[in-house]
Amino acid sequence: MKLASRMSRIESESAFEVLVRARELEAAGRDIIHLEIGEPDFATPRHIIEAAKQALDDGWTKYGPPQGLPALREAIAAGVSRTRGIQVGPEHVCVVPGGKPMIFFPMLALLEPGDEVIYPNPGFPTYESMIRFIDATPTPVPLVEERGFSFDLDAFARKLSDRTKLVILNSPQNPTGGVIPADDVRAIADMLRERDVIVLSDEIYSRIWFGEPPLSIASLPGMLEKTIILDGFSKTYSMTGWRLGYGVMPRWLVEAVNKLMVNSNSCTSSFTQRAGIAALTGPQDDVSAMVCEFRRRRDAFCEALNRVPGFRCRLPEGAFYAFANITGTGLKSKPLAGALLEEAGVAALGGTAFGEYGEGYLRFSMANSYENLMRAAQRIGEFMRLNCR
Ligand code: PLP
Repeated sequence: MKLASRMSRIESESAFEVLVRARELEAAGRDIIHLEIGEPDFATPRHIIEAAKQALDDGWTKYGPPQGLPALREAIAAGVSRTRGIQVGPEHVCVVPGGKPMIFFPMLALLEPGDEVIYPNPGFPTYESMIRFIDATPTPVPLVEERGFSFDLDAFARKLSDRTKLVILNSPQNPTGGVIPADDVRAIADMLRERDVIVLSDEIYSRIWFGEPPLSIASLPGMLEKTIILDGFSKTYSMTGWRLGYGVMPRWLVEAVNKLMVNSNSCTSSFTQRAGIAALTGPQDDVSAMVCEFRRRRDAFCEALNRVPGFRCRLPEGAFYAFANITGTGLKSKPLAGALLEEAGVAALGGTAFGEYGEGYLRFSMANSYENLMRAAQRIGEFMRLNCR
């Protein structure tokens, strides 16, 4: 028996592969500092956990509506309207198990084989994997370090064609930590407004930024009716394992996503959704404290990386990744990431795990303690001083 040919077009995620190797080394007695996985190292806030326990006791253990519980959709619509300066209602919201389904479902609903999808490179690997799986045509647009890891807008304009059906934006960005400047978002909206395209605006890091707040393209004139906002609870509330995310989209797309939900998941877990209401409507102090701590780690870790021979690291403006330029080492990304893991005990990802334009970079997730990040920078420094040409 052979697998379907489409399975040759779907990739795994390198972060999980590196984690497996790191765990093997740990099992053999090695001390590894984990900077590979994009998962906040904070506990889920207490009041959210209590709300989930209460929901279980209250019997929220059954199927719910495929689109999501009305009370959660109300809370999401109110929150998204307030934070993005737009007007959306619960009828525009689909609750799904995590952010990832909101990448897959719209693609399944919209794309025919051969349709072109523009997306950032380096970028979250699921974008390209899913585009290929569906047999659409990947059209990567490079992000440019000198532009704060925003797009090369000329390249963006050149890649747009009559076959472009979907454009993926991600800000704040994984893996670069870049935030697309407001002027660039406006320029992109100007390029797309008159076209028959949908924008998937991946705003999963919407609450984690350190400078200028990210601008959602949905808030610009004429863009709300052609934008899907993807957001969720994984990063903001340290809820990666709860699997709770959502999309906000035009009504005609809601129907399509609902059908995909009915046939794949039936619904998102009901008690998890009750916890989601507590997350959105309860105190936000834990979120502020987490962002503060990420800022402290970012400042110290990037400064330390900038002292490593051959490394150069811009201060990320959002998310919790340091995307260090390693071209000064004369080494390629993947072998250097491998050597750092095997020889220095620091697990990081080569930039090419996020696409070809990630060559020359390493991604470090700062979802580890301040002390461990400083230890990691020291190990990397020692390794490079011994091995740099
Ligand atoms: N989008 C981006 C840019 C991400 O980095 C991630 C997770 O790492 C997701 C979406 C998926 O989030 P979730 O874990 O909620 O599925």
